[in-house]
Amino acid sequence: MTDLTTLTLSVTLQKLRDREISSVELTRACLERIQQVDPLIRAFLIVTEDLALQQAEAADKARAAGEDRPLLGLPLAIKDVFSTKGIETTCGSKILRGYVPVFDATVVQRLYDAGMVMLGKLNMDEFAMGSSTENSAFQITRNPWCLERVPGGSSGGSAAAISAGMALGTLGTDTGGSIRQPGALCGIAALKPSYGRCSRYGLVAFGSSLDCPGPLAHTVEDVARILQVMAGHDPLDATSMPVDVPDYVARLTGDVKGLRIGLPKEFFIDGMQPEVEQAVRAAVATLEQMGAEVIEISLPHTDYSLPVYYLIAPAEASANLARYDGVRYGQRIEKGEMWPTYKATRGQFGPEVKRRIMLGTYALSAGYYDAYYGKAQAVRTLIKRDYNEAFKQVDVIATPTAPTTAFKIGQNTDDPLQMYLADVFTLPASLAGICGLNVPCGFDKQGLPIGLQLLGAAFKEDVVLRAGHAYEQATDWHTRRPVLNDEV
Ligand code: GLN
Repeated sequence: MTDLTTLTLSVTLQKLRDREISSVELTRACLERIQQVDPLIRAFLIVTEDLALQQAEAADKARAAGEDRPLLGLPLAIKDVFSTKGIETTCGSKILRGYVPVFDATVVQRLYDAGMVMLGKLNMDEFAMGSSTENSAFQITRNPWCLERVPGGSSGGSAAAISAGMALGTLGTDTGGSIRQPGALCGIAALKPSYGRCSRYGLVAFGSSLDCPGPLAHTVEDVARILQVMAGHDPLDATSMPVDVPDYVARLTGDVKGLRIGLPKEFFIDGMQPEVEQAVRAAVATLEQMGAEVIEISLPHTDYSLPVYYLIAPAEASANLARYDGVRYGQRIEKGEMWPTYKATRGQFGPEVKRRIMLGTYALSAGYYDAYYGKAQAVRTLIKRDYNEAFKQVDVIATPTAPTTAFKIGQNTDDPLQMYLADVFTLPASLAGICGLNVPCGFDKQGLPIGLQLLGAAFKEDVVLRAGHAYEQATDWHTRRPVLNDEV
């Protein structure tokens, strides 16, 4: 019998619909796989085994009764940044240990309504601040392609769980690259939807003007199926947009004829790993051979993205994280008096979170606000304009997702700037609020995956998905799976 954990979400869904397999069988296979390989990978913070099996049984019953829903019986797992009713939600932080939400995030609720089986909660950088998952207060997640290396971050658990075959789809969040960059480093499909496409309600807030929930999976079609369920206006999130949600799978035509692809010169910079540049250029050439028109473009304010992001994101984070005061959420370290209690409670934040709170508070403080935060906002508008202009000329912009393949655990931990540079290629789209997809496009000499980033205009997820899916039809990078040590 085929190992069920080697299949994609879309193929598995068909097998469930054809009654070739049951959700209970499938869920058991995932749980066994988790038991077997997660001690090496450490992607999961919590495995909700009993809940998963109950939901799988219910899904099988529903199907036997003639029901069909978009994700009925499919085992998925969720980044620990999403509130999950009855399941501890820590956001990778000690300060939220023991916090059990009494409600589900809207996107989680929508996945349940679509029939998902919940496998558990996934590791992440504390409060989603980081690019390697090393900032988790609990554990280090390893890259399934090489256990000495990081899976990327902050949704490192979400990417590693897919690549190691432990779940068929996962949810992550992307504030500056946290879905796309781990997607690239783990060799899977990963989509940051446009800002406002998916509800943020129930998401532990980091940078409220940037945070975007999105799906990760083996293929672009899988990602499209999950997005279909997540997307759409939510009255509980005033920034979610009441715009139409197209039928994403129906738009995966398999061709790119006539599609105009922009290649921004600012994204092919010194310091990038040469193999990454070669693989991305080769991918663009493939798309051109398939009938796309490739046009060189310029996004002149690209260089400012990193400083602008590292003013705006920490500024918003410092405001959002003020709520962890030991009174309302999670942990309280009681020291009798208010100030010592507050200090001890907030002292539980890890070093990166503290750094961001200090940076953000400084950027927002009287006397510096205009010079830092105000200026950053003004430049953000210029970056956004670059993209508006570019999308008058092209349908999709192709770039590398990350400047290097997966780096070694510990390599960048003492050098925050080096760590921040892991996101140079993903930050601009976050600031512009547009959508971006990672698709695997090759491997370096060490056998580590390389990612192609396809950016689309706001709410044009269907266009980037179409381009990514067509690319997958012409290549087989997305079909490769890592061999884990215990399987050798
Ligand atoms: N790595 C970036 C940061 O540390 C982006 C994180 C994210 O997208 N959540 O802020």
